[in-house]
Amino acid sequence: MTERRKTNKVRVGDTYIGGDAPVSIQSMINTPGDDVEKSVEQIRELEAAGCDIVRMAVPDTPALRSFAQIRKQIGIPLVADIHFDHKLALGALDAGADKIRINPGNIGPEERIRAVLSACRARNVPIRIGVNGGSLEKDLLEKYGHPVPEALVESAERHLRICREAEFDRVIVSIKSSRVPDMIQANLLFSERYEHPLHLGVTEAGTEHSGSLRSAVGIGTLLAVGIGDTIRVSLSADPVREIGVAKQILQALELRRGGVRVISCPTCGRSSFDVSAVAEALERRVQDIARDMTVAVMGCVVNGPGEAKEADIGIAGAGPGKVMLFENGNKTGILPLQGIVDILTARILKR
Ligand code: SF4
Repeated sequence: MTERRKTNKVRVGDTYIGGDAPVSIQSMINTPGDDVEKSVEQIRELEAAGCDIVRMAVPDTPALRSFAQIRKQIGIPLVADIHFDHKLALGALDAGADKIRINPGNIGPEERIRAVLSACRARNVPIRIGVNGGSLEKDLLEKYGHPVPEALVESAERHLRICREAEFDRVIVSIKSSRVPDMIQANLLFSERYEHPLHLGVTEAGTEHSGSLRSAVGIGTLLAVGIGDTIRVSLSADPVREIGVAKQILQALELRRGGVRVISCPTCGRSSFDVSAVAEALERRVQDIARDMTVAVMGCVVNGPGEAKEADIGIAGAGPGKVMLFENGNKTGILPLQGIVDILTARILKR
């Protein structure tokens, strides 16, 4: 894989984005803006699942009040997501926001952005300029006809100029589109020109299944060529599910160690047990186990042993009701199929 592109390192609360910091995982809560208790609960669930930075929409004053209360009850960096009203950004800074996300397409005149930058500077808080294909400035839409990659990059550049003029460089940029090729192209273009850390995401990606795939393609393509410092998988689903998908993207590219990877064969006529049922049950059981290892679930002894030997632990179907066990590349026994998920989980936990 290509070496990671060099970007500026920006502090967000007690973590960092860019530079040599590991690629971080973000999500956004979807609890009602005025429900502090539910929001804190969801943030804790996200954190437990592996979320590094969490964002909350602050669309109005009641949400701002909740933001202030939530900030006091959690440890993970909290980002205020602001559209339209820059005063809410100023309020969120007073409330202890660790980062401000503004959408340049709808925040209004430059003076407002400058006011936010100056308040951010006073508190050492970074901003994310979040360009979104669905809310591009009108004049850019007129100029380009559609939110094409060049238009998205120009929108980011316009706001980076304001930051530069204000000598404010704690800036993270995201350029999102619901069209995966546009999102990829826009981020490639941007990263050729700037060293600001990039927050990657496919916006309005879709439901859990299709959104995960589209995010994996968009985000994964960029990460594979060394672009991207923090990621958010957007799904029309429980945000906790976003974290699992984000972790899998990072694990697939070996950008994050830790966690049990379950690999399994596609099955064919030779399979002697229900590989999919065992692999899925095992994946659910091990999802919160932090050990860094690979477990192979293979249907038969034709190709199974080869893969199973490469894994830390592997099983291969060995006829009705039995599987062959491999550990660290060696065949170590025959196990009953019944209760195999419990047996494997116990062996994983022993390591
Ligand atoms: S491991 Fe065996 S059962 Fe699975 S796909 Fe390969 S040959 Fe078929």
